[in-house]
Amino acid sequence: MERDAYWRKVVEIKYGSMWGGWCTVEGHGSYGVSVWKSIRKDWGCFVPFISYRVGAGDKVQFWHDVWCSDLPLKVLFPELFSIARDKDVSVAALMSFSNGTLHWDVSFSRNLQDWEMESLVAFMELIYSQTLDGTGQDQLCWNKMEKKAFSVKSFYHCLNPPSLGSPWRGIWKSKVPLRVAFFTWTAVLGKLPTIDNLRKRNMVIVNRCCLCKNAAESIDHLFLHCILAKDLWDSVLLSFGVSWVMPCRVRMLVDCWQGGLGRQRNSLIWKAIPHCIMWCLWRERNLRSFEDLEMSHPALKMLFFRTLIEWLNATGCYSFSSPQDFLNSCNSLDH
Ligand SMILES: [Zn+2]
Repeated sequence: MERDAYWRKVVEIKYGSMWGGWCTVEGHGSYGVSVWKSIRKDWGCFVPFISYRVGAGDKVQFWHDVWCSDLPLKVLFPELFSIARDKDVSVAALMSFSNGTLHWDVSFSRNLQDWEMESLVAFMELIYSQTLDGTGQDQLCWNKMEKKAFSVKSFYHCLNPPSLGSPWRGIWKSKVPLRVAFFTWTAVLGKLPTIDNLRKRNMVIVNRCCLCKNAAESIDHLFLHCILAKDLWDSVLLSFGVSWVMPCRVRMLVDCWQGGLGRQRNSLIWKAIPHCIMWCLWRERNLRSFEDLEMSHPALKMLFFRTLIEWLNATGCYSFSSPQDFLNSCNSLDH
């Protein structure tokens, strides 16, 4: 850390320094340049990923900072922290060396009770296991890298962790027509021209879902929560003998759909289902919006099975002759 850098001194004088001088206090004034104020705002996002390497120990807080373990001592030993005499003390103030041997002088506001002895022993073991010599500068360490050196890339990954199952591979690898994969991809990105999206582009339209005529139309409503969509999901999943709790976003649905159904042959069927349901709902939505036509629920369900079978047969891995033939084979699906 550049403690003597000129820029740092300027910023420190202007805003004032926090304990240890690792960061300034937050700037609230309306005057001045906002660059530092913006940088300072993100300190809270940064702190969970750092620890301190103790040198002299005067810039590191004994109870509050992460320096001897993965967590601050106040979190590891809350019962001891609650009776610590000085809660904001530095590491330097509590350590001393006689003949090169480290000695800790932690004091509490009362004598410890019997039941607190176990934590005291663990606490002492931990702080006495540190190899410190009380010299040199205290250093800030970036926990996420092996060498503890900060990198912007690593910080970016901490702030935007890759989701558990990235949906993109699953979407493009499903054996569905390319235009359908593209459609699902657009839906997951939230970019389909649903009414809420069109209104964001300043188009003046009443926002009402044309499937249920009972709520505003959005991608998540249309494909997951609309009563018509819910009915279709429920009856399709029932055919597969699966019960399912609907997540609130299409993105989450596609994320958690990745699991598959075990055997390769059946997992092709399973992976095509969300594509096919959303494709049929979108088709029905457009039929109602633009052609003033309407399908009954059983007809929509039949459309789903016919479409799915068409896609599956096109992969060459299946040859279902009818929805009934398909449903019979679904009963033997391995899940
Ligand atoms: Zn609806």
